Amino acid sequence: MSDDTRLDRSTIWPYEDGELGPVYYSRDDHPTGLAAEAALGDLEGGRALLFSSGMAATTTAVLTMAGPGQTLAFASGGYYGTGKLFEALSRWGLRIVEFDQTGPPPDGADLIWIEGPSNPFLTFPDIEAAVAHPAPVIMDATASTPVLLRPLDHGVDVVMHSATKFLAGHHDALLGALAVRDDTLFDALKRTRTQTGPVAGPDSAWLLLRSLKTLDLRVLRQSESALEIACRLAEHPKVEVVRYPGLGPDPLAARYLAGGFGGMLSFDVAGADEARRVETSTRLIGNATSLGGVDTTIESRHRWEGDRVPTGLLRLSVGLEDVEAIWADLDSALG
Ligand code: PLP
Repeated sequence: MSDDTRLDRSTIWPYEDGELGPVYYSRDDHPTGLAAEAALGDLEGGRALLFSSGMAATTTAVLTMAGPGQTLAFASGGYYGTGKLFEALSRWGLRIVEFDQTGPPPDGADLIWIEGPSNPFLTFPDIEAAVAHPAPVIMDATASTPVLLRPLDHGVDVVMHSATKFLAGHHDALLGALAVRDDTLFDALKRTRTQTGPVAGPDSAWLLLRSLKTLDLRVLRQSESALEIACRLAEHPKVEVVRYPGLGPDPLAARYLAGGFGGMLSFDVAGADEARRVETSTRLIGNATSLGGVDTTIESRHRWEGDRVPTGLLRLSVGLEDVEAIWADLDSALG
């Protein structure tokens, strides 16, 4: 086993001749976290920071990069929890405006938040239009992962991940990550993390290190299977709409993604009762929230997002099972 797989659960390390060594208190840094950050930074082509969850990473980015009286432009249809957090931060004087991320962000925005592909609407941002805006751009790239897209290469200032999803990939670690190129921004983000404390624990960091070894294999296979499932769903008589960037394909997703379109898709059946019937009828596919794991999961998003999504919307995260077995289960649940 390589050296970087050592798990160190200490919270303190002795000073060296009375001076701070490379690690001294785990709210700042710990060896397992540093190793995982180095591995993720390499994948993103930047410097990475780990957090206790995706939402902790998002909170840290916004607290560091925006303030009272400023305007945050948020991609409409972006992850529901991100929108809820921004709504809560508006109590501290942050103005939130939603915009269609397939076009340019609004004039006057001080910070721009895009997400690709978005969860669960599967829209893809016009990254070029976003980075042409004078404000810094943060991209939630949870569903594309560095296997399919490295946003820093396209001029995005900060990449954000719910590393709980594809990066950790086994539904056993809650984690967030930010990656940047600019050293001053890196230091500022890290300072906020140390001051507010949402660090990733060593066990989660170790699980991420394990998972990164199989990331490309998993994401490529999940993308291949998701495309197959999306095509079959599009032909299914019980399915009204399928959202998947590989269908068509979506020209923006095709411009930026390489190697596949990711493992997440959503589709609509005829209303809430039908969605409930389908999600509770699968046998292989787990009826659970979250996405990006090796096991396929399905859920109605209406239970969380209310009228923001169609009542019959089901989000599917395609795992590593045999694609024929996934399809057989889904097809029989659809009936
Ligand atoms: N961003 C996206 C696209 C997500 O899907 C999620 C979680 O579902 C988050 C952010 C939040 O991440 P976490 O649950 O790790 O806090």
